[in-house]
Amino acid sequence: MENYSGENRCAADFMDIASLRDVQLSRLQKIVAHAYKNVEFFRNRMDEKGITPEDIKSLTDIQKLPFSKKVDLRDTYPFGLCAVPMSEVVRLHASSGTTGKPIVVAYTKEDLDVWSEVMCRGLAGAGLSKNDIIQIAYGYGLFTGGLGAHYGCETLGATVVPASVGNTRRQVMLMRDFGVTGICCTPSYFLHLIEQADIYGIDMRELPVRVGIFGAEPWSQGMREQLEKGAGIEAFDIYGLSEIIGPGVAIECSEHSGMHVFEDHFYPEIIDPDTGEVLPDGEFGELVLTTLSKYAMPMIRYRTRDLTRIIAEPCKCGRTIRRIDRISARSDDMFIIRGVNVFPSQIESALLTVPGVSANYLIILTTEKGMDNIELQVEMSPEAFSDQVKVLEDLQRNISRAVESVIGLRIRVKLVAPQTIARSEGKAKRVLDQRIKG
Ligand code: ADP
Ligand code: ZN
Repeated sequence: MENYSGENRCAADFMDIASLRDVQLSRLQKIVAHAYKNVEFFRNRMDEKGITPEDIKSLTDIQKLPFSKKVDLRDTYPFGLCAVPMSEVVRLHASSGTTGKPIVVAYTKEDLDVWSEVMCRGLAGAGLSKNDIIQIAYGYGLFTGGLGAHYGCETLGATVVPASVGNTRRQVMLMRDFGVTGICCTPSYFLHLIEQADIYGIDMRELPVRVGIFGAEPWSQGMREQLEKGAGIEAFDIYGLSEIIGPGVAIECSEHSGMHVFEDHFYPEIIDPDTGEVLPDGEFGELVLTTLSKYAMPMIRYRTRDLTRIIAEPCKCGRTIRRIDRISARSDDMFIIRGVNVFPSQIESALLTVPGVSANYLIILTTEKGMDNIELQVEMSPEAFSDQVKVLEDLQRNISRAVESVIGLRIRVKLVAPQTIARSEGKAKRVLDQRIKG
């Protein structure tokens, strides 16, 4: 890979800002022209606004361009947004369909190179190198997680263990037998691996694994502490979505204070989700991304529905590419209960401030006597399970209070036995909405 010297740094992450902006502008102009010429959808949308590719003279001119959304991908399913002939497309993926009908994305050979490059830059920034043995426990297949991480690790030169998801016992054995030093998977699945290892009599902290690359779902600081302590590793948050490329849009460096966006390839903006107005760096809103160098399916000003903010201040690591904050929530995950907007991630953060609880939980919404009701089921740790009733009642009360202080609603907390909440191999399912609609 160009620019990658085999060390923990890649020149493109440290470019001076003026050169970075130049690269972004010239790539933006090229990709907008490409999308306009080859995709009817983008051409029509731009024509409606009276914009042509020639109107993009500066980076702020991006704001003149129309937004695109997931529904546009669904409406043009499967290949309506393709900007190259199928003979140029070498790979298809589909989003995991967490929020509805899956969408399809396409890649040229060069697009795959970009993807491997950003993944490799991210892994290198997380301290991994060709000397590492990396297990990939994201699903392989149409989901972008497995193959995205796979090619990134190979580009890095690391030894890849393509375990995919499932067969937890084998995962743990592979980690131990192969001396795995890095792992890529969802944070909830890694928590499951730690617990299962314990059941098999293996202490994850004694294995050589030292770095975890966790993403594909929101996770809290409390979860980070559980994973880092439970396995004796350093955990890195990685963000991405199929529509933009897959994993590797942004990732933490060893400062762990936000995720660096590979903005020479993915141009970030934050907007007010209600008005579409562009917000200044530092303000929270919806992340909008433009792919600057993806040719099979360019995305112009794609509204991710993920909520975060841009951190423009220089990072201590010296990378000049800007950061985004932890994805605080995905707007699709929000539910409204008794008129209050609640995100599962708020409940997780509150829950994990209480000592002695595990990050295995489930939010159950029901209708009782015509009213919305919310119950939080929390698994007890095996140690807590045998505690006295009084201790458990206190725990229940502490959880309820912690959650109430964050969401402003009193909720029912039910402690359940260890290993009773279903584990997911991919994205954890945190909310069960059984309310009567209508
Ligand atoms: P789907 O929309 O079906 O879940 P993807 O598999 O492409 O499809 O998932 C992308 C989404 O996953 C992102 O838009 C975001 O909501 C979520 N996501 C990915 N990485 C992270 C992360 N590190 N933190 C929080 N959410 C994440
Ligand atoms: Zn940094």
